[in-house]
Amino acid sequence: MKRILILGSTGSIGTSTLDVVDHFPDRFPVAGLSAGKNAGLLLEQAKRYRPGAVAIGDPVAVPALKSALTPLGIRVFGGPDAVLELIEETAADLTVNALVGAAGLLPTMKAIERGMDVALANKESLVMAGALVMERVRERGVRLLPVDSEHSAIWQCLAGSDHPAIRRLMLTASGGPFVDWSAERMASITPKDALDHPTWNMGPKVTVDSATMMNKGLEIIEAHWLFDMAPDHIQVVVHRQSIVHSLVEFVDGSTLAQLSPPDMRLPIQLALTYPERWPRQATPLDLAALGTLSFESPDRKRFPCLNLAYQALGIGGTMPAVLNAANEVAVRAFLDERIPFTRIAELNERTMARHEVIAHPGLEDILKADRWASEELVIGDW
Ligand code: NDP
Repeated sequence: MKRILILGSTGSIGTSTLDVVDHFPDRFPVAGLSAGKNAGLLLEQAKRYRPGAVAIGDPVAVPALKSALTPLGIRVFGGPDAVLELIEETAADLTVNALVGAAGLLPTMKAIERGMDVALANKESLVMAGALVMERVRERGVRLLPVDSEHSAIWQCLAGSDHPAIRRLMLTASGGPFVDWSAERMASITPKDALDHPTWNMGPKVTVDSATMMNKGLEIIEAHWLFDMAPDHIQVVVHRQSIVHSLVEFVDGSTLAQLSPPDMRLPIQLALTYPERWPRQATPLDLAALGTLSFESPDRKRFPCLNLAYQALGIGGTMPAVLNAANEVAVRAFLDERIPFTRIAELNERTMARHEVIAHPGLEDILKADRWASEELVIGDW
């Protein structure tokens, strides 16, 4: 039995996590749940899974949640620090961090601080503060278990291999919906176009990040920290079918890959059951029916966010946090139809160019850089 705390339980990864929990009754008691604004779904989940406590970011939702859940013995935390209070007050073995964006960083740090293993979907934690997160993981002796399908694939391929045996990591990318669009046509992309991902069903931010390939850029940074690999040993290959989730090349020239039909419940389940693998009813891989698996190089001209991620990682310090913050604001502006799709990369680049990097930042420096980049874009002219 593992007691689990699910942060972002109302989102795509959060609800898939609860789906995995449903398949193993009594094995994963839910210790806590958190949502940003979706009080209706949080209430439904709380009544069903009976956690000790829940957290909701939106303070307006607190009175109604309290009146419904307090009689059931479920505590309710509300407001901007609610997630941190939930982590502080909850006894759990594993925290699933399925929050989206920079909001996930402090909860990751807090869960590690409290000695819990962390199943990490929130890649932004590592993008912003990879050095600090990994240092605390080592100090506290907890496990950081990858949930992102590419990183789970690499982790499965490595299966405890020694670091010197690894030559290269190859992250696969579906290429998103615009992989074949010309640069001219890309100027007219609408949010509806961008939210229509060909192979994965995800939350809006990561879906737009997939369309710009910023998601793959963030994953390069995530892989760097998780697997301690230099940026020039991390490569991206476009693989439209999303069947091969990533590959590892070893120094003897052998390459291992992990394959499965695209379904986030697989990497989530593995993070929950680790170090064991438990049976699950999944669509079997039918290679003959698939026929062909294709691989190609990404077009870095049409998808400049990939280069920005390599640059930010190379510069280091506060730069990846700045790229992450700029991107979050730019994606929101695109979804609100305030800027065209192609401006996302431009704004990311412009914000990076204006940033004065702190080479060895503490947590406060990173949070300050995050705020600086968000404000720089909010007050800047679009
Ligand atoms: P969603 O947008 O679907 O869900 C995000 C969750 O976080 C929701 O529960 C939301 O609450 C909550 N939330 C958002 N903002 C805040 C905030 N400021 N404070 C507290 N809670 C907040 O995202 P996804 O599930 O798609 O993605 C989550 C993470 O997992 C991201 O980092 C993403 O990159 C990563 N990931 C996602 C994959 C996927 O298939 N979806 C695949 C691999 C990685 P509410 O809805 O109630 O407002």
